[in-house]
Amino acid sequence: EQQDRVFNFAPGPATLPENVLLNAQSELYIWRGSGMSVMEMSHRGKDFLSIIRKAEADLRALLKIPENYAVLFLQGGATSQFAAVPLNLCQVDDTVDYVVTGSWGDKAFKEAQKYCKPKLIWSGKSEKYVNIPAFEGLVQSPDAKYLHICTNETIHGVEFKNYPVPKNPNGVLVADMSSNFCSKPVDVSKFGVIYAGAQKNVGPSGVTIVIIRKDLIGNAQDITPVMFDYKIHAENNSLYNTPPCYGIYMCGLVFEDLLEQGGLEEVEKKNKKKAELLYNAIDESKGFYRCPVEKSVRSLMNVPFTLEKSELEAEFIKEAAKEKMVQLKGHRSVGGMRASIYNAMPLAGVEKLVSFMKDFQARHA
Ligand code: PLP
Repeated sequence: EQQDRVFNFAPGPATLPENVLLNAQSELYIWRGSGMSVMEMSHRGKDFLSIIRKAEADLRALLKIPENYAVLFLQGGATSQFAAVPLNLCQVDDTVDYVVTGSWGDKAFKEAQKYCKPKLIWSGKSEKYVNIPAFEGLVQSPDAKYLHICTNETIHGVEFKNYPVPKNPNGVLVADMSSNFCSKPVDVSKFGVIYAGAQKNVGPSGVTIVIIRKDLIGNAQDITPVMFDYKIHAENNSLYNTPPCYGIYMCGLVFEDLLEQGGLEEVEKKNKKKAELLYNAIDESKGFYRCPVEKSVRSLMNVPFTLEKSELEAEFIKEAAKEKMVQLKGHRSVGGMRASIYNAMPLAGVEKLVSFMKDFQARHA
């Protein structure tokens, strides 16, 4: 079956490491002498406990997560965190700040309006989300409980390369890291909360990871549903109710794999190499291909690009698919193409895409 796999450039759910899938396949039916599949295990039995504990320990090792941070494995997607963050970190009259560099940040901002007083302190919308503001120019609310950013905008391909510091000394930085989670080292201590859906870099959909500084836990608004209350999940080690067991197991296999690759420094090197190859091909095409994003903030994960002759885009996508490179269509809101090249996209996939792009250009220029 392996030879039939395609290069999958989807934005998420996305491609997973082949060795991880094969390992999972080999223990799908019976997991390590347990006599059953991980899918069939009690989430309170010793086997699953060993799985979730190892997943957490490996994630802590990967991101060097400090002791004073809790790691939660939740459900509901990053979208549920758009509500959980304000519900847990502030009361209904509290001010919070949002920097919006793409559609996901915008969704987070809009959801927060139901639960507190979010202020949009910067938006890249009028420029079609191609940049990130200079931090010195940001006018932050002095009393903001948190400053929210989306570190990598999956649709627009805009990525923070460093992070703003909250002006309020008692405020914290909150980040939606869904689409660049575990793609490079991150200094977790700079953040109050980091959250991410797993389905781009670290596993299947259905698992949402929250990393939160422990002193921020326990202040949820009274209306907070138990499923959104960080305190409930932290006190119960993510086992308050039935967690997404199989997804957590898969994430654990991915974390193990990332550690075996040498950790996130090594992973970042590979990601930079892949992204450079693709952006260079775009920039050196003499305008045949174009990436609208400002160079200094181009994402290592999601590479949006257009064709000068936009009428050829459908043909490009169709021909690429014939050559087993799929899911290259841009998001419906921006059009064009988008190549998502997460951790698990091999260099060979990007090399094949670049060579296809050159060939396509030669035939259509
Ligand atoms: N935030 C970002 C940056 C995303 O890319 C996505 C999904 O693609 C989401 C949030 C929403 O995640 P979910 O579908 O897990 O709710």
